Amino acid sequence: MKAAVLREVNRPLEVEDVETDQPGPREVLIRTGATGVCHSDLHYVEGKYTIPMPVVLGHEAAGTIEATGDQVTYVKPGDRVITCLSVFCGHCDRCLSGRPNLCRRPDVDRSDSEPPRLRQGGTRITQMAQLGSFAEQMLVHEHAVVKVDDDMPFEQLALIGCGVTTGIGAVLNTAKVEPGSTVAVVGCGGVGLNCIQGAVLAGALRIIAIDSVETKLTLAREFGATDVIDASGGDVVQKVRELTGGGVDYSFEAIGTKETAEQCFEMLAAGSTATIIGMIPEGVKIELDAGTFLRRERKIQGSSMGSNRFRIDMPRYIEFYRQGRLKLDELVSQRLRLDQVNKAFEDMKQGNVARSVITF
Ligand SMILES: [Zn+2]
Ligand SMILES: [Zn+2]
Repeated sequence: MKAAVLREVNRPLEVEDVETDQPGPREVLIRTGATGVCHSDLHYVEGKYTIPMPVVLGHEAAGTIEATGDQVTYVKPGDRVITCLSVFCGHCDRCLSGRPNLCRRPDVDRSDSEPPRLRQGGTRITQMAQLGSFAEQMLVHEHAVVKVDDDMPFEQLALIGCGVTTGIGAVLNTAKVEPGSTVAVVGCGGVGLNCIQGAVLAGALRIIAIDSVETKLTLAREFGATDVIDASGGDVVQKVRELTGGGVDYSFEAIGTKETAEQCFEMLAAGSTATIIGMIPEGVKIELDAGTFLRRERKIQGSSMGSNRFRIDMPRYIEFYRQGRLKLDELVSQRLRLDQVNKAFEDMKQGNVARSVITF
């Protein structure tokens, strides 16, 4: 099968022939229908996070089950699925305490003594997040998929696989935003826009979108922002304080930089919570004035894949979409072929797309 392979940091991905192994016990082989291109894919291309190479990136996908291995009862060939990088074992303490997105992940990947899922001749190829969706096929553990109805287009389903679940989940599951509250979202790309629509679903009274790109602020309004702040115009924290008379109840960081993370806790009212979603590069430290920050019960927390329980959450998001309460079509900025994946990264760096989707 064809897959886009990354061999070296800061090099273009090359579409190459890659061999997929047969599904082993509890594994399923998926024919990829569509995959979004997410900012975390770019982080690996740029070397901000490390991963064994060569690697097939991509982790925001949907497709059709083509074959199943032994002991798979959840899906059968022909079923449509969304993949999720929150593959769960179902029996560790994190899973059993209701937080499968934080699974310790024993027993969900092949061991080093087993043949790899992907290879080129004798060379093992890594699957990003145990998925590797920039490929015509994905061989994954059955606990990395949720079965969905077959009347939804793959493009929209794929977006639910990461960006939608990350953004909405951060609001509904991680922060548990209450009706009537005031929310700020810093960064209005794919994830930030989904934070905004999560805040709408949660019944937030005021949703302040912050970005330095005008087209993204326009999109943010379409997704439900009640106020926008152009970050290129200077002191964002001061502007939020003026707009709200002292700070927000919840802030969300959806870019992944030290500066925006610090802005997110500096704009909080007393007793409020900052949720950091963006992937801040390894080794970066953020600073806060502990005296003023902690004294008035301000909190800061991470959010991993929207604290999802994706087999519950994703079908709900589909239903919200059907009811017209969730925008998915508007997130698709452009459709590309697999051999155009590098263009998706270039456009992402320019900052003028919500999501590029590769279709097969
Ligand atoms: Zn992602
Ligand atoms: Zn587990």
